[in-house]
Amino acid sequence: MNFKKQKVLVMDDDKNISSFIADVVESEGYTALESSDMGTFKKYYNEHFPERIILDLQLLGCDGIELIRYLAAEKSTSEIILVSGADRRTLVTAHRLGEQHGLKMGEMLQKPITDKMLEGALRRKSKSLLKFGGEDILAALAEDHMTAVFQPQIVCGQDGRWSIDGVEALARWNHKEFGMITPDKFIPCAEETGMIGPLTDYILQKSLRYIREWEKEGVNLKVAINLSGTMLSDLSLPDRIEKQLDKARVSSSQIVLEVTETAVMSDIKGASDILTRLRLKGFELSMDDFGTGYSSLSQLYRLPFSELKIDRSFVMEMHDNKEAGVIVRSLIDLAHNLGLVACAEGVEDKRTFQELTDLGCKKMQGFYFGKPVNADNLLHSIRQFNNQQLDYSVRTPGLHVTH
Ligand code: C2E
Ligand code: MG
Ligand code: MG
Repeated sequence: MNFKKQKVLVMDDDKNISSFIADVVESEGYTALESSDMGTFKKYYNEHFPERIILDLQLLGCDGIELIRYLAAEKSTSEIILVSGADRRTLVTAHRLGEQHGLKMGEMLQKPITDKMLEGALRRKSKSLLKFGGEDILAALAEDHMTAVFQPQIVCGQDGRWSIDGVEALARWNHKEFGMITPDKFIPCAEETGMIGPLTDYILQKSLRYIREWEKEGVNLKVAINLSGTMLSDLSLPDRIEKQLDKARVSSSQIVLEVTETAVMSDIKGASDILTRLRLKGFELSMDDFGTGYSSLSQLYRLPFSELKIDRSFVMEMHDNKEAGVIVRSLIDLAHNLGLVACAEGVEDKRTFQELTDLGCKKMQGFYFGKPVNADNLLHSIRQFNNQQLDYSVRTPGLHVTH
């Protein structure tokens, strides 16, 4: 690929910064188009249709959000790398806004930016530019390029001791050309193309196989599987899942099905039928990412959920943002008052763990306890967790990993 032909439009009202960024862009082999006011930005955009735009969010005379709206109106296909001196939360919100407008949002860079940060953002193959079709996903499944990674979930027992009770299975695509791709880049496509059913079957099948393998190592783990809402109108789903479990000789009590709120909302009657039958068959049901998307409290008591999973965006911000803390506390109380397990996801540090413990949260998941790892590394990761349990003030008595 001839990168010289690729154009990168830089927008920063501080001329020193825009020329610094432009220098790095040029040194990476791209053509830089430098702008520091709205007029020049729009002119360059319309003349060159750049592949990428590096956009400062805080500008004099206008702001980055206005430009995001402008690019959306232009139906821009450029990848947008956001830069800002504001806190990360503002960056994330602006990034999300761009996505909601259907723009291709790239990396987020927090000022002060260095040449290394810029080089990294420019060199990393822009995965947001990836476009897949249903046939790509089908081929990846057939060629075994899809895989599941597993992230530990810890629970607090009656005796106040913590143990790893289960794992969440998360899909990954080991792409021939682009390397490891995370689910946000292909799940929407799988949903749109009807490939989500085969993909879920695949992840479930892999998980069932590993449940049996871990059992042989003396480790009993529940596995949480993500169920897309688009599947909740297929009335044959409960029987199909049950058949897979029977074949693998795994009990339904070992499987938690995580359903996203957005999903549940769209077809309440179908969802209600399917979820009730799954519950009757002995599966635990968790409402995933609670608090985002199409929150509806009534769904929570109308549908037979056993767990409420508090979205990581609140948990990760509960220290820096008072409101996020209030939401987390309220959701824990809400879950408990409805007789549900409250599971906090996105626990990244000891402070969050301790605060959640003080709030009475008895189930957690997050990088602090373990990142998603492949099945072969999971037992090692659990062992490490056990060794460090005193640092964490967490004990895992029920778990015996033999080697
Ligand atoms: P999710 O179900 O809410 O899964 C948890 C996500 O949070 C995972 O991202 C995990 O890596 C991330 N995470 C966990 N702890 C932390 C933490 O402490 N800090 C941070 N920053 N992140 C943390 P991942 O693997 O990228 O998955 C994203 C989403 O993709 C999942 O969100 C789920 O909605 C969807 N997904 C993944 N696998 C499947 C699948 O097999 N089927 C369906 N339908 N959706 C899937
Ligand atoms: Mg989940
Ligand atoms: Mg979640």
